[in-house]
Amino acid sequence: MLEIKNLTVAYDNSPVFEALDVTFESGKITGIIGPNGAGKSTLIKGLLNLIPKRSGSVLIDGQKIKKVSNKIAYVEQRKALDLTFPINVFDVVLTGTYGKLGLFKVPGNAEKQIAYTALDQVNLLDYQDRQIGNLSGGQLQRVFVARAIAQEADIIILDEPFVGIDIKSERDIMAIIKYWRDEGKTIIVVHHDLNKVFDYFDNLVILNHGIVASGSVAQTYTPENIQQAFSADLSAVLFDDTKKVGSAS
Ligand code: ADP
Ligand code: MG
Repeated sequence: MLEIKNLTVAYDNSPVFEALDVTFESGKITGIIGPNGAGKSTLIKGLLNLIPKRSGSVLIDGQKIKKVSNKIAYVEQRKALDLTFPINVFDVVLTGTYGKLGLFKVPGNAEKQIAYTALDQVNLLDYQDRQIGNLSGGQLQRVFVARAIAQEADIIILDEPFVGIDIKSERDIMAIIKYWRDEGKTIIVVHHDLNKVFDYFDNLVILNHGIVASGSVAQTYTPENIQQAFSADLSAVLFDDTKKVGSAS
């Protein structure tokens, strides 16, 4: 279980959100949804200590996050990554094993085997020597998921993993996410496509510069909450006619 308490993050004078409290359960896939600019990525970066916080504490099974940071795998929103960095697919996946290696140790056969197995799980063994700059969006996202597999983390956080990827990659990645969930891991997926909410998530955090709602999908995915977080128009489209499903942000 991951508990965030009293989290305030501000890039300038006006905070993105203030005194935010939210809990993520293990053995569940929690979706974080909300409009563009709502603070979804900021919440993730704040909880991971990747940006300064004004206040807030993060506990993982009651322990301070610093002590367990290598138990967390993070697949960041893709536009943020530098794809011109010269590194091949295999080496990216291998970096997933570094957190468990002691200082000054180099990855050996055991770590390489973990990386091969992870690449096999995302069906990319044939691409192991390819530079990451020469992959499709879906292949690249599968590489980052393989890296997360190699990390053998307890908590996996993915920020908009399905943006700009093919449907087969989305299905493959979702299958791995559900497998992780069934192993009891804590999964957090930032997502903007509302029509997959019921298929993909157990729990939902609806965010708009603060928590609009959080809890099970059945409790939180309501016209009122969607209207409050997005807009009245979108809520009407989604809930008045189930055949017409829109996507937000
Ligand atoms: P989301 O991921 O929900 O689209 P973000 O967390 O990226 O939203 O952004 C939340 C708000 O913080 C937005 O208003 C955005 O413009 C602002 N913001 C995000 N990153 C930065 C930054 N590095 N510097 C200043 N403002 C930022
Ligand atoms: Mg974002």
